[in-house]
Amino acid sequence: MPTRLFVATPTKLLTFADCKRKYRFTYLESPRPPKGPAWAHNTVGGIVHEVLADFFGRWPAAQRTPDAVVERIRTGWRNEGFRDEAQSLEWRDRSTDMVLTYLRDSDPYYEPRGVERTVGFTTERASLRGRIDRVDERPARDGSGGTELAIVDYKTGRRPLTPTDARTSLAMALYVLGARRVLRRPCTRVELHHLPTNTVAAADHDEASLARHQSRAEAIADDAAKAEHHWKTGLTPTQADEAFPPTPSPLCAWCDYAKLCPQGRRVAPTKNPWAALEDPEPTLDD
Ligand code: SF4
Repeated sequence: MPTRLFVATPTKLLTFADCKRKYRFTYLESPRPPKGPAWAHNTVGGIVHEVLADFFGRWPAAQRTPDAVVERIRTGWRNEGFRDEAQSLEWRDRSTDMVLTYLRDSDPYYEPRGVERTVGFTTERASLRGRIDRVDERPARDGSGGTELAIVDYKTGRRPLTPTDARTSLAMALYVLGARRVLRRPCTRVELHHLPTNTVAAADHDEASLARHQSRAEAIADDAAKAEHHWKTGLTPTQADEAFPPTPSPLCAWCDYAKLCPQGRRVAPTKNPWAALEDPEPTLDD
């Protein structure tokens, strides 16, 4: 019998690598345990992503104006996670400024190769897939006269990003491999577009760095597949706690399941839902 491939996104793999208890709550428990309240920084990030997806992926060139962006953010805004209405409105304005600044020099006729594009590829043991914020197709830098792809990921957290962040991101490397497979174009370039500073942290992969990321992904997938197999044998609560132990760390302050996890709360008390707007949130490789 052929072995069934383990199906995963980068987020799923990284959740398993970071904390097996969180993985159990997120992907295995049914019904899924209730999450904590919404985070304001996720509201900001979600709306910014939605607007940029509309701008590059759905709107015709004639609609791509600053007024349309302002209106889209105003009508699509949500108050989830903010301290109060005043803070929500302040961040609506700040988000609008961020997006307008980012788009200031963009060509309204520019058509990316993909927007919120799902890509995937299989290895001998895993089926890995994910959704890319934007895939650009640009003139190839090797002088061949052809084109190449660039993987673009929008970031809205406070911490400025570096080329090392782009190079070491498992998700971005898997997107490169998925884009090559699905779109059948050369691709080495990964870019983190950091809207709060309007900067781009870019890196180029080579075959060795992609192979390293793929090996890491496969190793995590193998362990997760074994853990899921164990889960399906039917575990008592004590056995489940042993098989999926907590990994307390500073990240616990931002965990959606912290209220179910005394070990995590002891290490890092849960933050206010709006705290990341003021403090740098941890690096989340999603
Ligand atoms: S609070 Fe921390 S240890 Fe507990 S489930 Fe969340 S990430 Fe894991």
